[in-house]
Order: sequence, then structure tokens, then C-alpha cells
Amino acid sequence: MENKKIAIIGTPCHMTAAAKMDMFTNFLGESTVNIKIGLFCMENFSYSYMKQLLENYGYDMKDVVECRVEKDNLWFYLTEDRMFKLPLKEAKSCMRKNCQICMDFTSEQSDISVGSVGSPDGWSTIILRTEKGLKLLKNAEKDGYIKTKNLKPNGLKILENLANKKKMKNKEEIMKREHSGRPVLYQRYIPLDDFANEVRECQFEDLKGDVVDIGSCVLCGACVLVCPEDIVKIEDRKPQLKGKCPQDCNLCYVACPRTYIPKDEPILDISKKPLGNYQKIVSAQAPKIKGQDGGVATALLNYALSKKMADEVMVVDKKRDQPWKPEAKLTSNVADVLSASGTKYSACPIFKSLKNRESGGI
Ligand SMILES: Cc1cc2nc3c(=O)[nH]c(=O)nc-3n(C[C@H](O)[C@H](O)[C@H](O)COP(=O)(O)OP(=O)(O)OC[C@H]3O[C@@H](n4cnc5c(N)ncnc54)[C@H](O)[C@@H]3O)c2cc1C
Ligand code: SF4
Ligand code: SF4
Ligand code: SF4
Repeated sequence: MENKKIAIIGTPCHMTAAAKMDMFTNFLGESTVNIKIGLFCMENFSYSYMKQLLENYGYDMKDVVECRVEKDNLWFYLTEDRMFKLPLKEAKSCMRKNCQICMDFTSEQSDISVGSVGSPDGWSTIILRTEKGLKLLKNAEKDGYIKTKNLKPNGLKILENLANKKKMKNKEEIMKREHSGRPVLYQRYIPLDDFANEVRECQFEDLKGDVVDIGSCVLCGACVLVCPEDIVKIEDRKPQLKGKCPQDCNLCYVACPRTYIPKDEPILDISKKPLGNYQKIVSAQAPKIKGQDGGVATALLNYALSKKMADEVMVVDKKRDQPWKPEAKLTSNVADVLSASGTKYSACPIFKSLKNRESGGI
């Protein structure tokens, strides 16, 4: 059966995994992901730690209506018009360890990146990186799904500074980890030609040692998706092996965004391109949608679905039985896309939701 086209949304580490799957179709087969909408992301939190921290202050996740990062605080808007402000410094005790070595703030591998930094309240900042991204935005604007305006020069400066700050700070942590003998593989320069040799004999046990056990796993679920034996399961918030790997398979190691990422050129000065490569950058708003910021992510996914640029979209909604726990959902229903608007500040193995689709392929 012909592969369906899927639009996905996710954090920068999700976008890296999707880009690796695009890069290594010779290993992994043709990817069904055809549109990548990436979010800005400074850090992410452990759901269970955050839940516990809230309970320590006498609040329950089920009473949280909205959650947002503003300046130096994480704000929880609660039922009965209550509010709780948690200083980001304190929230950082719940931050995932893998986020401390993350160098990407703006989803540099996406077609379109969306975040709030740089634009006024109620608007989103959009970075257009590929021809596909430019076309999606242009058509969505023409058909009234979103409106755009120029990003103010000061907004761009703030955005670049923040992206740089993340890179500089986390580079220090990478150096610290490497110094103590815990190599951060995705930041090691490796030419494309050497990649196949380097990963030839690497299997799940290597992935466990090189990524999971040393606090590099971003919990994206790419290893679950690509495993041809279906023996990788996520349990206790980490990927675990539930069977025996055939001798010549290395697919989970190839797809993981935290193993080697081949680069044609070594990156000598990370401060030169804090936002990665892009073609255009604007502020945008979706007038009819209530989203986390400008509602633009939801509007673009809706547009892609409605105009058949994608057969299905992958969104991240909240679990019905665990308030604010993120759950990825593959859908062709606009109502599901609308329901998933808003940010859930914890990790979600989005690629798991693409497993076992009837169309086959990744
Ligand atoms: C963990 C995290 C950290 C972020 N940190 C920053 C930041 O530091 N600075 C900044 O400017 N922006 C950050 N963002 C992005 C910001 O919160 C908004 O998502 C973005 O501005 C888009 O707003 P919107 O109104 O267009 O989105 P909406 O229209 O509300 O749509 C939001 C979309 O995000 C998806 N989504 C929600 N939670 C997750 C998740 N956990 N994983 C993957 N996808 C998800 C949903 O499927 C939905 O489609 C972060 C997002 C996440 C998930
Ligand atoms: S590793 Fe953490 S900080 Fe980096 S993109 Fe993923 S969730 Fe965000
Ligand atoms: S079978 Fe292949 S993809 Fe699956 S866990 Fe083993 S090495 Fe990884
Ligand atoms: S080990 Fe699996 S879940 Fe973790 S980052 Fe790698 S591919 Fe993603």
C-alpha cells in the first residue's frame, strides 16, 4: 500500500530524529513524515517530578487549566481563578537530564519552527526554513487561516540571544560530561562517509550504554518506531529491550537523535548561526484559534490536513486519565487537532504513535 503523508509537530529533539530518518532512508526505508513543524524549546520537565512538586505546594494536576513559562516563572492557572507561580529556578529540579546537553532552541531541522520568544503576547514567532514550509505558510495566510506581520528587530535580537545562551550553557555541560568519560555522541563531528562504519555493529545494548544510561535519551520513541522486531518498549519512562536482536540489525542506533549525527562541515563557531539555517522569519497569529501563543501551530496542522497536504497529522494531547500527561495521537480529524492545542511541558515519545500503521514504512 502507498505510504500516507504525515505532518508532525514536536520539540527540536523530535525534529532531529525525523531529520535522521529522512537522511538514512537507505537503512530505515522511506519516511512517511512529509511536514515537520518544530517548536522552540528551552527545557522539558519530568511529569512525575513536576506532579510531586505541585502536590508539595498543595496543588493537584487535575486542577491545572493552563501552564505557561513567563519570564523567570512557570505559571499554573488553576480552577476557581487561582494561580500558582513556580520560580523557574525551582522548576529546574524537575528538568530532564537530557535537556542539559541540548544545543537546539528553535528546531533547526524542521520545515517551520514556532515559538513565542520575539513576538508580542498572543502572537507566535515563525521561522521558515524550507520551500515546503514557505509554501504552507503562504497558502495558509492566503486562505485566511493565519495572519503575519514583520518580526521587530528587537524581537529577533532577543530570540538570537536566547538561542545562543542555550548553546553556550549546554556546551559547557557537554564538555563536563565528556571530560568525565561520558561521550555526548550527537555533538561529535563525524563525516557522512564514516557513519555506516561507525554504527555497523551497534545494537540496542550500545544504545542503552551510549544514550539511555548516561542521561542523553530524549524519550522520543524513534527506537520503538524503527525496530523491525518490535522488541523495544517504553517502560518506566525509558526504552527497554524485550527480546533478542538479530545479528545484523542496528536500526535503533541509526535513528536515535542522540547517537552520531553526521555533519559535512565541522561546526567551528556555534554563535554564528544561533537559529540554524532559515529563509524568512515573521510574527503570526491564527485569529480563530485559542492556542498557547498565536495558535499558529494548530492552524498550520489544520490547514495541512484540510488541504490534503498531509493525510494525517501527529499531535500531542493530554491523557484522559492523567491530567497534563502528554499523549501523541495520529489523526485525520480536525477536532483532534483543535483539542491538542496548548503546551504540555513534559516529554512525549511521539514516534511510538506512528508504529503499526496500516501503510507500513516509517
Ligand atoms: C516542552 C516545551 C518547551 C517549550 N519551550 C519554549 C520556550 O522556551 N520558548 C518559546 O518561545 N516556546 C517554547 N515552547 C513552544 C510554545 O510553548 C508553543 O508551543 C509555541 O509557541 C506554539 O504556540 P501556538 O499557540 O502556535 O501552539 P498551539 O496552537 O497551542 O499548538 C501547540 C502544539 O504543540 C503540540 N505539543 C504540545 N505539547 C507538546 C509536547 N510536549 N511535545 C510535542 N508537541 C507538543 C500540540 O500537539 C499542539 O499541536 C515550548 C514547547 C514545548 C512543548
Ligand atoms: S532535549 Fe529537552 S530541551 Fe532539547 S529539544 Fe528535547 S525536550 Fe527540548
Ligand atoms: S532488533 Fe534492531 S532495532 Fe530492534 S532493538 Fe535490536 S538492534 Fe535495535
Ligand atoms: S534511545 Fe530511543 S527514545 Fe531515547 S532518544 Fe534514542 S531513539 Fe529516542
